[in-house]
Amino acid sequence: MTALHPETLAVRAGTLRTEIQEHSEALFLTSSFVFKSAAEAAARFSGAEPGNIYARFTNPSVTMFEQRLAALEGAERCVAFASGMAAILATVMGLMKAGEHVIASRAIFGSTVQLFSNVLGKFGVETTFVSPTDTAEWRAALRPNTRLLFVESPSNPLTEISDIRALADIAHGAGALLAVDNCFCSPALQRPLALGADIVIHSATKYLDGQGRVLGGAVLGGRELLEPVFTFLRTAGPTLSAFNAWVLFKGLETLDLRMRAHSANAVELAIWLEKQPAVSRVLYPGLASHPQHELAMRQQATGGGIVAFELAGGREAAWRVIDGTRIMSITANLGDTRTTITHPATTTHGRLTPEQRAAAGIGDGLVRIAVGLEHVADLKADLAAGLV
Ligand SMILES: *Cc1c(COP(=O)(O)O)cnc(C)c1O
Repeated sequence: MTALHPETLAVRAGTLRTEIQEHSEALFLTSSFVFKSAAEAAARFSGAEPGNIYARFTNPSVTMFEQRLAALEGAERCVAFASGMAAILATVMGLMKAGEHVIASRAIFGSTVQLFSNVLGKFGVETTFVSPTDTAEWRAALRPNTRLLFVESPSNPLTEISDIRALADIAHGAGALLAVDNCFCSPALQRPLALGADIVIHSATKYLDGQGRVLGGAVLGGRELLEPVFTFLRTAGPTLSAFNAWVLFKGLETLDLRMRAHSANAVELAIWLEKQPAVSRVLYPGLASHPQHELAMRQQATGGGIVAFELAGGREAAWRVIDGTRIMSITANLGDTRTTITHPATTTHGRLTPEQRAAAGIGDGLVRIAVGLEHVADLKADLAAGLV
């Protein structure tokens, strides 16, 4: 189906039908599967014959989600997980061993930093954190035992853009792999494998669901490369539930439309915010004022749905804007039809010391909005209430 357009793949790829010929794809709530004979059971277990065995590692609802997402990312293979964090853990557990080294962007999801530093560090996998935007730092951090480069672009909450093609070249020159957490763009806006990355990781909890209902995750890449990632799933069991897979599979049908609408709202809001006297700085990759605007427009279809802005009045002013909203949801989540508003310095990045926050560029006046699908005029009015 690779010749078809993404809009078509999003509603057609991955469909499996039973003999009932249901139009809307079925939800397979079953933990195991039966075999026609002892010989069939043996053939399934030995791998001689493909097919479902046990839902820890095979379920048709999960398979449908995996195949549709693989089609959208242009990947040979997708392995689904219970959450985005499970997908990241499985990538490392499947592809790395003790004594190997990771280079990761400093501007990655907070739990991913904890996973690399505190969990994997205990098992002899060491991580060096570097600038998301300065490729020279990545090159300088390479070691003979570097196995994985890990990046998120755009970053959270500052929307910094990493050069995926340049990082892929650095990784491959050193015999390492590049993994991209594509959560913020989704395949509707950015396809890292086409830019040279080896692995794409998703927190499906965000835009892939898109309606804030379920947790899920996925790892995508080459068929052979992902075999040990699948083996980790099969043996350790961080499995995506059939129900969540079914919800995510349906979520993918509207992904393209949603991402375009999120982006259209976000760019209009960003342009409007730039004109507000109380706002000292707006960070949105779709704005010409963004430091990596050109790179963003080369590797993404649009600027995406996340807008960050800084208030000159610091924490007090930021909280006034947040508390002045009546429509937006005050929550740290993102990728929802409903706009969410966050004060990173006291929530997602609240456990950092003031020095660490300053080094990361997270000021007390910073506000992050994950722009939803409400009418943009209502969103402007909602922010204007506290922008004094
Ligand atoms: C939320 C998030 C994750 C973690 O995903 P969960 O589904 O919450 O486990 C990883 N990366 C990014 C960029 C995220 O936003």
